[in-house]
Amino acid sequence: GATIGILGGGQLGRMLSVAAARLGFKTCVFEPGADCPASHVAHEHIQAGYDDEDALRRFAGAVDVVTYEFENIPTSALDLLDGLGKPVRPGRTALRISQDRLTEKAFLSDLGLKTAPFAAVDDEEDLAEAIAEIGLPAILKTRRFGYDGKGQARILSEADAAQALADMAGQSAILEGFVEFSHEVSVIGARNIAGDVACFDPGENVHEGGILRTTTVPARLTASQRTDAVLLTAQILNKLDYVGAMGVELFVTSAGLVVNEIAPRVHNSGHWTQQGCAIDQFEQHIRAVAGWPLGDGSRYADVVMENLIGEDMDRVPDIAGEAGAALHLYGKAEVKPGRKMGHVNRIKRG
Ligand code: ATP
Ligand code: MG
Ligand code: MG
Repeated sequence: GATIGILGGGQLGRMLSVAAARLGFKTCVFEPGADCPASHVAHEHIQAGYDDEDALRRFAGAVDVVTYEFENIPTSALDLLDGLGKPVRPGRTALRISQDRLTEKAFLSDLGLKTAPFAAVDDEEDLAEAIAEIGLPAILKTRRFGYDGKGQARILSEADAAQALADMAGQSAILEGFVEFSHEVSVIGARNIAGDVACFDPGENVHEGGILRTTTVPARLTASQRTDAVLLTAQILNKLDYVGAMGVELFVTSAGLVVNEIAPRVHNSGHWTQQGCAIDQFEQHIRAVAGWPLGDGSRYADVVMENLIGEDMDRVPDIAGEAGAALHLYGKAEVKPGRKMGHVNRIKRG
């Protein structure tokens, strides 16, 4: 059977490996850390840094196709894998665009989609200009490497500006106008090599301290908002000639849907699909990158996904005894505040 190479060894890589195994594939995980969640279930773990060319060559030799579970893979590693003739799916364009919030916002607005107003900020002068143009409140975010709300500072008044810039520690940033949304939703879409597109039902997301807390399906959306959400996701996938699953985060506003960000991979807000659909987002991604037809991801249950973060792990024994609750634990050795340790999908019966 074929082997799927996965760059990154976190929980997303773990759940991709499980889905791949169910379809008869082997997985080889490339991840610098030892004892990572994906290494417990993958057939092979190459433990090396993304700048280790010998290790990348070994990885390329062991796999038939390469995918990734996080978007901050150095482009040099992908260049090398490309050069060795291993297809990388999703492709480089999606990765390049989503690695930089400025490029990402420009891409989305060029597509005609609504985003928060934005401007590039590298110094005090840029910031003053951006505030004059966009207004306050606003959010300053590092252009690269941010996740779970890290690398962000809210600017409520002019007095916050200097501190917000200092928080960026010299990194290039983007100022975003604050979007007055009623709630947040996301769509997990997938596209295969043949160009077929399928989207899961949008989920409604609640964040706490910048970290996703829960996703609920169905989301509160009108029929036309639901259609918009799915169509704009398909538009993004097609424009990128994308292969794989993608998460598209949206703000619901009185003026329509505003795109917050895209993630070129399976997404935390799509974990509900494990209990809500016959084919979940992990299998859909594996199908796409393996050149298969997409599966039927229609939703057959109402689900609430709750992330288990840090000390939430203390509740696992109780949750284990709950009716209608499906636990997914990532096997991380150490509990840390803010660390995603697992999640629980609760199936809601009417
Ligand atoms: P993730 O873990 O989803 O990758 P992230 O660190 O990339 O998160 P964002 O998704 O940009 O960060 O922002 C985190 C949260 O902050 C959003 O889900 C939203 O609740 C809020 N937020 C971000 N940008 C804006 C904005 N322009 N206006 C209003 N709220 C915002
Ligand atoms: Mg993000
Ligand atoms: Mg986000």
